[in-house]
Amino acid sequence: VSLSVDLAVATATNTSFSKALPGLQLAVDSSSLGVFKTCARKYYYSIVLGAQGKAGNVHLHFGILLHEGREHYDHARASGADHQQALRAAVKHVLKATWSKDLGRPVWPDHYKPTNKSRYTLVRTLIWYLDQYEHDPFQTVLRTNGKPAIELSFSFDSGYASRTTGERFTLCGHIDRVATLNDVPYILDIKTTEYTLGVGFFKKFRPHNQFSLYSLAGQIELPVPTQGLIVDAAQVAVTFSRFERNIIPYDRAAVEEWHQDLGVWLDQLDGCASEQHWPMNDSACDNYGGCEFREICSKSPGSRDIWLSKLPKRVWDPLQRRGDI
Ligand code: SF4
Repeated sequence: VSLSVDLAVATATNTSFSKALPGLQLAVDSSSLGVFKTCARKYYYSIVLGAQGKAGNVHLHFGILLHEGREHYDHARASGADHQQALRAAVKHVLKATWSKDLGRPVWPDHYKPTNKSRYTLVRTLIWYLDQYEHDPFQTVLRTNGKPAIELSFSFDSGYASRTTGERFTLCGHIDRVATLNDVPYILDIKTTEYTLGVGFFKKFRPHNQFSLYSLAGQIELPVPTQGLIVDAAQVAVTFSRFERNIIPYDRAAVEEWHQDLGVWLDQLDGCASEQHWPMNDSACDNYGGCEFREICSKSPGSRDIWLSKLPKRVWDPLQRRGDI
């Protein structure tokens, strides 16, 4: 990677990065770690520099808005609204979030290939999902302040430190929802797919980077340790959305194994920053329908910075909190 990029400047507004070693992320969430595990170069582009591939990520966008809709629904119900009132609040939120006042029309990320995930299917999926779970046996936990336990931010010491600077690594993130069934607490998450639901779909959540971190957080950050995760899966097709729920158990041994491996990954993260080199994993370029940075990586190394500078940027800072555990 060319060193013409000033990493101190690139990460100046990102509080999750070290000031002592520019390019070293100290507060790590599952998204950052997941990208790093996939390809260190992709991590450099998307997390360190904050570049967004040309295609935009419609799947991420769809998922975030579905979660936000669910969040608005839960807040409304906790404030005394009935199902229909809360549903309207949720739909209103996603409609507003996908509307540009300036342009006077809906806005939706472009995508490199046709997808079932559109503004229309988002609203339909949200309504059908909330209708299906109107009488959910899993009851959202109410916190002591009376607010629902949704979008809970967590951050705790990882148990590891940078070999280069000695600074501690923090693990952080946001848990969707904590709910109980027969007084047993679980972490709930919504996952969307365009493919058929079934045993094969749920198998991919163990082992799973994000869920391992959530399980660790659930076991040490919550007053009562969680017993696993619940995945609410939504299949989004052109003409229908359908849902399936499954429990993904995570015992203590599985979480401990993930935490042990984490030390190796954080060492590599540290090494990349201290060497100012994030290697390409060219066997990951075709994952998930093709990497959004393929066009950049296909260019001659000396010209990549120019191409990168043309991409839209955002700051990925997992320390920006939402709710609190
Ligand atoms: S195109 Fe391949 S090498 Fe380049 S960032 Fe993506 S996964 Fe990594």
